[in-house]
Amino acid sequence: MNTNEIYRQLGISQKVLDFCQEIVEGLRPRFNRIDQVAEYNQMKVIKAMQDNRVSDIHFAATTGYGYNDLGRDTLEEVYASLFHTEAALVRPNLISGTHALHVALSGNLRPGDELLSPAGKPYDTLEEVIGIRDSAGSLKEYGISYRQVELLPDGTFDYEGIKAALNDKTKLVTIQRSKGYDPRPTFSVGQIGDLIRFIKELKPEVICMVDNCYGEFVETIEPTDVGADMVVGSLIKNPGGGLAPIGGYIAGKKSCIDRASYRLSAPGLGKEVGASLGLNTSFYQGLFLAPTVVASALKGAIFAANVYEKLGYSVVPDGREERHDIIQAITFGDPKTLIAFCEGIQAAAPVDSFVIPEPWDMPGYDAPVIMAAGAFVQGSSIELSADGPIKPPYAVYFQGGLTWYHAKLGIMKSLQQIVDQNLKEL
Ligand SMILES: *Cc1c(COP(=O)(O)O)cnc(C)c1O
Repeated sequence: MNTNEIYRQLGISQKVLDFCQEIVEGLRPRFNRIDQVAEYNQMKVIKAMQDNRVSDIHFAATTGYGYNDLGRDTLEEVYASLFHTEAALVRPNLISGTHALHVALSGNLRPGDELLSPAGKPYDTLEEVIGIRDSAGSLKEYGISYRQVELLPDGTFDYEGIKAALNDKTKLVTIQRSKGYDPRPTFSVGQIGDLIRFIKELKPEVICMVDNCYGEFVETIEPTDVGADMVVGSLIKNPGGGLAPIGGYIAGKKSCIDRASYRLSAPGLGKEVGASLGLNTSFYQGLFLAPTVVASALKGAIFAANVYEKLGYSVVPDGREERHDIIQAITFGDPKTLIAFCEGIQAAAPVDSFVIPEPWDMPGYDAPVIMAAGAFVQGSSIELSADGPIKPPYAVYFQGGLTWYHAKLGIMKSLQQIVDQNLKEL
């Protein structure tokens, strides 16, 4: 076996390989801790499946209205067990994270209500959902007002500001766990719990929703373990384990889930309809794999942080800090290095490795975005992928990796591209 030789065949120079291998060796103790979290979460998933008596009848396809879709209903029970909630909605016709968030928000807010974001500006695509940027069909058009409280300069919650922003109209508080496309820290589940406790002391009836995208299985607890009324996420991120070809989930209080389901299908129909069309096997199997897939992605993110930190770039989170999501932000400060990084990620992919990524105007985003992904599922960001808006500070957001070895190759290829284009010397 000659691993160096096969890396050479894949275009990695000895210099890049040596630089990277030394970093990997130093990360072994951290990787051990990640494996311990994965082990716990793997047991949590198996237990949820066993407790709900998952069986091969649940893998059968339904069609048409999807009445009595046992596989769908049991999968929702499994999610509810996993998140320790009363109910869940886990559906292929929640077509993305944004859609799931839209259904959760519009299902639970009514004209005259106010939505509060206590963690600054939410994820880009939600700006149009909420109506922060004017958009046809936004919550704003339905008479739902919005308020946000900026984070303090050190990235923590502005509790005084939040107290002042809560008012009679505040119906729902949306808390985004992950940094998304913003260079701010991601919140730990513990921090989210503190925030929810503070909000509920002031206004117990307010619905606390957490945008859980990219956070699932990074820790051993989830936001619903610390008081969140709803968590929302995408199945082509963490909980789909790379196998779910589409889908989103909402887990939480039964009343919240029911209202979301009336928005997803129709008032009166709710959760009773919606054929799963044979997708259940990949939802179950993907969930089963998700804890180890998330561990691989975390190792890739930590490796990337340490490689690029050593080269002098600013990285969030830094090479040593605790992780609360799978995203790694690296600020390059110039568009060329950002683009070279993405070219390297693309060149490492099992699919479309020969394609050269270019910036494009993606729907829902306010600047051209470059995306590198050679994915089995289009747009899946639990698969190794990198994307960055082409605007200062020219930061790339890197995430995913169904296997650690693929994530490792991706980072080495990104560095190789940067070195080959004389943008950095080792
Ligand atoms: C990805 C993401 C979304 C939106 O999910 P899509 O599936 O891309 O629509 C929302 N919030 C956060 C924090 C995300 O990371």
